[in-house]
Amino acid sequence: MSEKFLLHVCCAPCSIAVIDELRTQYDLSILFFNPNIHPKEEYLRRKHEVIRICKEWDIPMLDQDYSTEEWDFATKGLEEQPEGGFRCNACFRVRLSWTAQVAAEGGFSRFGSTLTTGRYKKAAIINPIGEAAANRFGSRFHAEDWKKKGREALSRRMVKDRAMYEQNYCGCRYSLRDMHRREERKKALQKEA
Ligand code: SF4
Repeated sequence: MSEKFLLHVCCAPCSIAVIDELRTQYDLSILFFNPNIHPKEEYLRRKHEVIRICKEWDIPMLDQDYSTEEWDFATKGLEEQPEGGFRCNACFRVRLSWTAQVAAEGGFSRFGSTLTTGRYKKAAIINPIGEAAANRFGSRFHAEDWKKKGREALSRRMVKDRAMYEQNYCGCRYSLRDMHRREERKKALQKEA
């Protein structure tokens, strides 16, 4: 019997190649816990795509409640931080702490997260947060930089084959705000040209 692995998944386009790789090596379960995603319609849309992959490959999925209180509290005062700044570290901590706790309570021998697949998500920051969460709850963190070994290109192909929904901002209301700001700046520059 293979090891029980709990994989925290941020969204389907970032995670599909990782899930496909791990499902052949472990007794894999998926955890969808992303209280950062705003608005709720977007959260449901992203979750729907993760459910679709889990159904395709018959992988159990733990669907956690959407409650933003803890996330809002953890990121208070960090609203103006850019993507990749301190707010993101707090965001990772919330999601990985919960995953470590669920893994410990659920008898999973290890847990991991697809967070390091993101282009702007540094494994050097995320992996130590995962290790710290594992130590706190007595579980084991599977540290990996999922951007590597051609997984990014493979994911893109798999997403295209399935005509999967792909978001254009990281997830929280602040990353949505920043995306709108970028678009407005671009429009203003185009008008000036
Ligand atoms: S930009 Fe992304 S990682 Fe950073 S706080 Fe927002 S949702 Fe979390």
